[in-house]
Amino acid sequence: MKSWNIASAGRAALAVAALALGAGALTAVSADRAQAQDYPTRPITMVVPFTAGGPTDTVARLIAESMSRSLGQQVIVENVGGAGGTRGAGQVAKAAPDGYTILVHHIGQATAATLYRKLPYNVLTDFEAVGLITDVPMTVLGKNGLAPKDATELVAFIKENKDKVIYGNAGVGSASHLCGMLLMSALGTQMTTVPYQGTGPAMNDLVGGQIDLLCDQTTNTTGQIKAGKVKAYGVTTKTRLKSLPDIPTMEEGGVKGFEIAVWHGAYAPKGTPPAVVAKLNAALKTALQDPKVIARFADLGTEPVSQDRATPEVHKAFLAAEVAKWKPIIEQAGVFAD
Ligand code: ASP
Repeated sequence: MKSWNIASAGRAALAVAALALGAGALTAVSADRAQAQDYPTRPITMVVPFTAGGPTDTVARLIAESMSRSLGQQVIVENVGGAGGTRGAGQVAKAAPDGYTILVHHIGQATAATLYRKLPYNVLTDFEAVGLITDVPMTVLGKNGLAPKDATELVAFIKENKDKVIYGNAGVGSASHLCGMLLMSALGTQMTTVPYQGTGPAMNDLVGGQIDLLCDQTTNTTGQIKAGKVKAYGVTTKTRLKSLPDIPTMEEGGVKGFEIAVWHGAYAPKGTPPAVVAKLNAALKTALQDPKVIARFADLGTEPVSQDRATPEVHKAFLAAEVAKWKPIIEQAGVFAD
């Protein structure tokens, strides 16, 4: 008969424990699978980290409507504005990774990684990328009645009036903040900035004449420009836009190398089962081919990204590249927040 000693008993106990752990892991995998198969069984919250009525909100609501149809459950937009988008993003980073809380954010997801000294989450490791949505150009706008006639005059006006010029933005980390930061750094001057929880209310104040300037996505500005409610000085892309052909590029106005496009993407909290992410991604890709979404995006000066860019893998790599791209630019501008 085989004799047992303490060492072999220990090994046996370890083997039993390993089997139990393996079984536990298997149970977790099958629970994930079952959960993913049924998913979604209740409404999904889509957090937008800016106020309602702004450009990120507009993009998110269009996508949410179409995704609700494909997923057979309502995708409800919740606006969690503040701190340049980091409040809402932080809320999603800490949410249960079950597919019932997702985030639609923009370029600020990448720039916050450098802009914030103490970001309470890691943009690269605390989220699962679901997919890119769209690239949106920005426009530099002034209130009606502002003295400069065009971008060249605007540059001279900002240099002369410096902090007397009031520039609205959606807080440190927002796209409007980034645009203003690049403009001030290109002109070597400072304006007075007024932060809002999103550019929806900032646009209202520009139209009302309470602030002088705003740089914002065409998804929020095209209607106001066409209605003559604001002055458009320039677009932030290398070439003019099909949707606003009369507006020159900022480069034409004399601001060399001035270029930003605001991309939007969807995320789930880290640890969301891959099969759930795949379902969300499939619904997102369907939304990006939805004729209603395409037509509305076109009205707002943008279009959905191509299907091959709308994958979790491409989005993940793109986000990492964007963090790396903006890091030295932000460090050079020397703008940080706590
Ligand atoms: N466009 C805003 C920004 O400046 C955010 C928003 O309200 O969507 O980032």
